[in-house]
Amino acid sequence: MPGEFEIIRNWFDRKPSIDGLRTGIGDDGAVMHSTADSDQVVVTDTLVKGRHYPADAAAEDIGYRAMAVNLSDLAAMGAEPRYAFLNLSLDEPTEEWLDGFAEGFFSLAERFNVALAGGDTTRGPETITVTLIGDVPESRALLRSGARVGDWIAVTGEIGRAAAALECWRAGREIPDALDRAWRRPEPRIAAGLALRGLATSCIDVSDGLVADLGHILEKSKVGATLDADLLATDASREAWPHRPKRDFLFSGDDYELCFTFAPDDEQRVRDALAKSGTALTVCGEVRDITAGFDVKCDGEWQPATEFAGWDHFRGSEK
Ligand code: ADP
Ligand code: MG
Repeated sequence: MPGEFEIIRNWFDRKPSIDGLRTGIGDDGAVMHSTADSDQVVVTDTLVKGRHYPADAAAEDIGYRAMAVNLSDLAAMGAEPRYAFLNLSLDEPTEEWLDGFAEGFFSLAERFNVALAGGDTTRGPETITVTLIGDVPESRALLRSGARVGDWIAVTGEIGRAAAALECWRAGREIPDALDRAWRRPEPRIAAGLALRGLATSCIDVSDGLVADLGHILEKSKVGATLDADLLATDASREAWPHRPKRDFLFSGDDYELCFTFAPDDEQRVRDALAKSGTALTVCGEVRDITAGFDVKCDGEWQPATEFAGWDHFRGSEK
């Protein structure tokens, strides 16, 4: 089993050449140049073996996911990814595991021009924390708090695929390709997040389930909403599970799509911007006064959103 310094040197110290990184891995801290006219967005997410990924998950998928879930948070903020920090707690990593992990991790890091600038490596129960730093022009970050009454609500891509894949896995069935990709290799919506700067009034990435995450926007923005989930296509999930209701997939999480609000007057600009970034979108709801509450239509029936809650780690179960 390789030791701590060998792990850092052989698998993670890649000396990236990126403007602004003055000192990366190898000193006590990373030194990054900052400019006066941009804001920095910092996101961090921890993956615990057996909780956020199956104990027998491929190392490459784990490395990919650790980077992807953080990129998704930066996307939701409208930020451009720059630097990564990687904190690894590992049981008994084999060289094969480290090869796979690094492959998945750096495949995304390189695609999105992220420099691994530091981290920490310790022995312990397998837990992976990635921290990313991104840039956004001053005061232009997309927040959860900006939704206004009358705004429309939209989501990117197709919600529910990861949940449908997970159901296949649990049932011991073969997972169709489109679902498997969404589950194991979620595509961070960075281009969409950048395209939505100045257009979206609020934004969040859908990691805990659409209703739960839209609920966060509503709470922060102090508004209510209607969400017509029947407008959301679930073709890929339906193919695998033709007889199950939409609600079984739509509100489960791990989608890593963006849910955002915008002024109806900007609809064409939003559609053009997302088309340019190569991202599909569906308009599926409207923001209303907080006193009107939050209602969701699914499988033909309107119900209060509380009927469709998401995942809460401390409660430890799906409601
Ligand atoms: P210190 O003892 O000062 O904390 P470490 O020995 O933990 O230093 O780390 C040495 C260098 O390696 C630091 O630059 C640190 O950021 C980097 N590093 C450690 N682990 C990782 C990792 N998993 N990924 C990337 N960089 C790492
Ligand atoms: Mg250290």
